[in-house]
Amino acid sequence: MTLPFTLLIDPEPADSSRTDFVDTFHEIDSGAPALRVAELSTQRGDGIFETLSVVNGHPQEVEPHISRLINSAQICDLPVPNPAQWRAAIAYAVARIPGEGELALKFVLSRGVEHGPAPTAWLHATRAADFAAVRENGIRVITLDRGYPRGVAEQAPWLLMGAKTLSYAINMAALREAKRRGADDTIFLTHDGYVMEGPTSSVILRLDGRYVTPAPSGAILHGTTQQSVFEYLTAHGESVEYRDVTVDELRAADAAWLVSSVRLAVAVTALDGVEYPHDTELTRALNASLLARIGA
Ligand code: PLP
Repeated sequence: MTLPFTLLIDPEPADSSRTDFVDTFHEIDSGAPALRVAELSTQRGDGIFETLSVVNGHPQEVEPHISRLINSAQICDLPVPNPAQWRAAIAYAVARIPGEGELALKFVLSRGVEHGPAPTAWLHATRAADFAAVRENGIRVITLDRGYPRGVAEQAPWLLMGAKTLSYAINMAALREAKRRGADDTIFLTHDGYVMEGPTSSVILRLDGRYVTPAPSGAILHGTTQQSVFEYLTAHGESVEYRDVTVDELRAADAAWLVSSVRLAVAVTALDGVEYPHDTELTRALNASLLARIGA
């Protein structure tokens, strides 16, 4: 019942007939050395991951996260994850971590040790940072050129756009650039001026009374939180849409949010140094509904 909690996992092939995975899980001391130096996740960032939130003992959006892990594995030519094993690993961890508060549960599938026989996998749970203030007050955001045109995923699949790989150095550099410019976060644009996503979040805008997010057409992740927000909005009679969004539309929108699994929904309050309209009431309602999810 203590955090952090770490579980090493022997990945089971996707077509395995096994139904009980407990002996593929190895609880380890989070502070102890666990990975070998030839591990390709650390040497090359060659692996994929997911981070889901556990709220008061309820893991959030388990199936969308596992589906996205499988999609990332396919893009990266990694062995396809066994969904039943990952489901079991998440349930195993959730039964052993504190049942109150907000936790972040990260799970990783790496190509493994160089020339080694098998991929490496693990799961790691920590207490989430306190995001109450940013959820309430919003964040200042800058736009940054991601350096690729729209359509890059089809033109250059080897760039692994749309896979949630461990190579987040560029995403972290974009956050540092935002800090250097006096902001909190970034929205990536294609080189030809279309809105993509944040370095760790999806973008949702309100345009002409409709809620719009860039279509997850291969170059960006399909956000699990964005899908939950769209479900909430649809249930409340609002129109939602996936489509290409230009930076001019972003500047003209009457509200925008960055949404992600652990920080949840945060309103954009300034864009490239210009004050930006925001909807505090709706942001509160979105976060209340995201925190109240108890399904898988
Ligand atoms: N886009 C990127 C690049 C991300 O890293 C994340 C989350 O980490 C998201 C979008 C949002 O995804 P989710 O809502 O599933 O956390």
